[in-house]
Amino acid sequence: MPNLDSVLAAEVNSLREKDLLWNIKQLQGPSVPRAKVDGKIVLMLCSNNYLGLSDHPALKEAAIDAINHYGAGSGSVRAIAGTMDLHVRLEEAIARFKKTDDAIYYQSGFTANSGAIPQLGLEGDILISDELNHGSIIDGVRLSKAQRAIYKHKNTDDLRRVLEEGKGKYKKTWILTDGVFSMDGDIAPLGEISKLAQEYGAYVFVDDAHGDGVLGDHGRGITDHFRLHGKIEADMGTFSKGFGVVGGYIAGTRTLKEFLLNKSRTYLLTGSHPPATVAACIAAIELLEKDDTLVKKLWENTKYFKGKLKEKGFDTGESETPITPIMLGESSVAKKFSQEIYAEGVFALPIVFPMVAQGRARIRTMVTAAHSKEDLDFALEKIEKVGQKLGVVK
Ligand SMILES: *Cc1c(COP(=O)(O)O)cnc(C)c1O
Repeated sequence: MPNLDSVLAAEVNSLREKDLLWNIKQLQGPSVPRAKVDGKIVLMLCSNNYLGLSDHPALKEAAIDAINHYGAGSGSVRAIAGTMDLHVRLEEAIARFKKTDDAIYYQSGFTANSGAIPQLGLEGDILISDELNHGSIIDGVRLSKAQRAIYKHKNTDDLRRVLEEGKGKYKKTWILTDGVFSMDGDIAPLGEISKLAQEYGAYVFVDDAHGDGVLGDHGRGITDHFRLHGKIEADMGTFSKGFGVVGGYIAGTRTLKEFLLNKSRTYLLTGSHPPATVAACIAAIELLEKDDTLVKKLWENTKYFKGKLKEKGFDTGESETPITPIMLGESSVAKKFSQEIYAEGVFALPIVFPMVAQGRARIRTMVTAAHSKEDLDFALEKIEKVGQKLGVVK
């Protein structure tokens, strides 16, 4: 029997040789624009904390109150004795915010996708997925007994081809798509997708992880952005990004919720969220319902930052959202770029093959509503300096 460590070390070494090992940095305080990372204050440009809610006083207060009233943990899985009134209130708040009948709250966006998709797509059904969908959708599809098909990224002609080929062959047809794609920051053509779905009798599952708190009125997400209320069968999202906390959800009809809560193993077989988390999630939604100042600020910052990058000659790819890649081509350039700006005090990670196609390496920046103009100018100055040094811009 080979020694396990030597087998694993061979894998790790092969990643090391390709320079693909994660070197994980530590935050030594809250995720804020000037964050302490590995002992040094840097300008944060790679968190998904779009609205700055993770350190918001209203969320922190709600979490502390919940600990005082309900304790540190929930004591059980949701279905047995782990549903507190807080969990129910959160699901009501999600449904209100997303304008659906009801919603089901999962441990995370990842487990929402990996638990729900295999139940929504059963034997005799087909799951049709955008080629650039998130890994949690991919895993959900892999766990399903349904047929699978992939269409070209955002390409509704190709989607129509797949729908046409499958016409009359399946019991249920699902189209699955990210709302905002996490690597390029581009938006799925959900209006056209929904029309095709209606034409072919398909259902739509959208993953709004990067749309929540970002797109739509008061940050209600992509369905609101395209005014598709009532036309999206499964409106999935997460609290780990724009909402600043953690936890996934799927919003839809009451029946969809009842089906999923009886069927999803990632709902049934896992301890429920602690009260502090749930209360902070409720506070995030209530805050956004009352006031869209942060959403407006996020877009103001996004437009400013993206505009300045373009002015300076950087290629920001297909981005239409706060996720702004700076396209650099080769992986080695993207890695060097990230190291150099980090040395200058700006924290943004390189995204390289195999996360994106060869020759499409980039650093991915994300501004938030919490960044001040001075923060953004500081980042822009350092990015330009490194861009010039590495010959990316003049
Ligand atoms: C981050 C992300 C998820 C996972 O959400 P978590 O709640 O963090 O597990 C799912 N889908 C997309 C598109 C994401 O970007």
